Amino acid sequence: MSATPRAVRLMHHDASDRPFIVIWEVTRACQLVCTHCRADAIRTRNPFELSTDEGRRLLDDLASFGSPRPLVVLTGGDPFERPDLPELVAYGTRIGLSMALSPSVTDRLTRPVLVELHEAGAKAVSLSLDGATAATHDSFRGVGGVFKATLDAAHTVRDVGLRLQINTTVTRGNVHELPRMLKTVLDLGADLWSVFFLVPTGRGKLLEPLTAAEEEEVLHWLHDVSTLVAIKTTEAPHYRRIAIQRAGVDALDDVFPPGPLRSQLRRETAETLTGREPPRRPRPPIDVNSGRGFAFVDHVGAVYPSGFMPTAVGSVRNQSFPEIYRGSELLRQLRDPDGFGGRCGRCEFRTVCGGSRSHAFATTGDPLAEDPSCLYQPASDREISLVGDRLAS
Ligand code: SF4
Repeated sequence: MSATPRAVRLMHHDASDRPFIVIWEVTRACQLVCTHCRADAIRTRNPFELSTDEGRRLLDDLASFGSPRPLVVLTGGDPFERPDLPELVAYGTRIGLSMALSPSVTDRLTRPVLVELHEAGAKAVSLSLDGATAATHDSFRGVGGVFKATLDAAHTVRDVGLRLQINTTVTRGNVHELPRMLKTVLDLGADLWSVFFLVPTGRGKLLEPLTAAEEEEVLHWLHDVSTLVAIKTTEAPHYRRIAIQRAGVDALDDVFPPGPLRSQLRRETAETLTGREPPRRPRPPIDVNSGRGFAFVDHVGAVYPSGFMPTAVGSVRNQSFPEIYRGSELLRQLRDPDGFGGRCGRCEFRTVCGGSRSHAFATTGDPLAEDPSCLYQPASDREISLVGDRLAS
């Protein structure tokens, strides 16, 4: 199925040749103890982390893809735990990479450090906000006072001239706060709201994810509000399926009737956002998925299709990144949706969605299996069941 260009942004290059974005976990050290931490972060730095020189070599590898070069996000743990962070940002910028940062909100996140990183060439900073109130957010983060510090840090990020992205992990514990979180995102003037759908991996196993039906409702609501702020979803690529399905649909509620959760989110959104600026044209989601335009490098140099899929496909200590990205058998399989199992393999949206491979892996142990977090019935399945119903009647 070919995507409607206005509903989904397609990459301008072949995803099997180069990634669109690479996330590098520069350290696993972090002073927070977030309940959903993918990395099972620890307090101190691992002595076997990639060194500054190895980090430069990785950045050289990424720049060697040529134009368009991948976007690079330095994450953790807390990347601010690395004293050579400004040096890495400056080096990446010098060789033509667009560098962004995903720090934890701790005492290390100060205005002088943000100014230094901005001067070194950093373009954007993403901060996590997982609740509309201090009670919810701070209990997620495992430390009191982080909610207020996050709001203060967000203002500072914008003040010093960096682009601001807000990251939110949705669980059953905070889903009802989404309209109020949206208001905060808008009040902060964020450029992008990146909404993560919990994958039961790392400490995230201890939290309760949404059901597939609830996730569908939330994705529709996110599309509703995508006229207010640019939305990105992580580990919910079926947001792109929804964007395509909704394109050009006028009687939306007749075609996609809202259930109780979406109705509640809508009602509260209307109450919370009265008198705000008029809607604008939504920014379509981009067509990337685990191993297909996206890769993750961990603190010791292992490469993964996603930060939520613990299936290493090589190490930048032994091989160049382009060699791993282009040659890994698993990454090649992840770029071939015809080989996916279950509904995802039969789905007419498989080339533009493909399902969350991390969800598939976390729940079945098979990264190519059907994504259980999506409830869509592919057209071919519906035809078969219609024929079955006709034969039975
Ligand atoms: S069935 Fe799979 S490929 Fe189809 S929309 Fe759902 S997650 Fe995407």
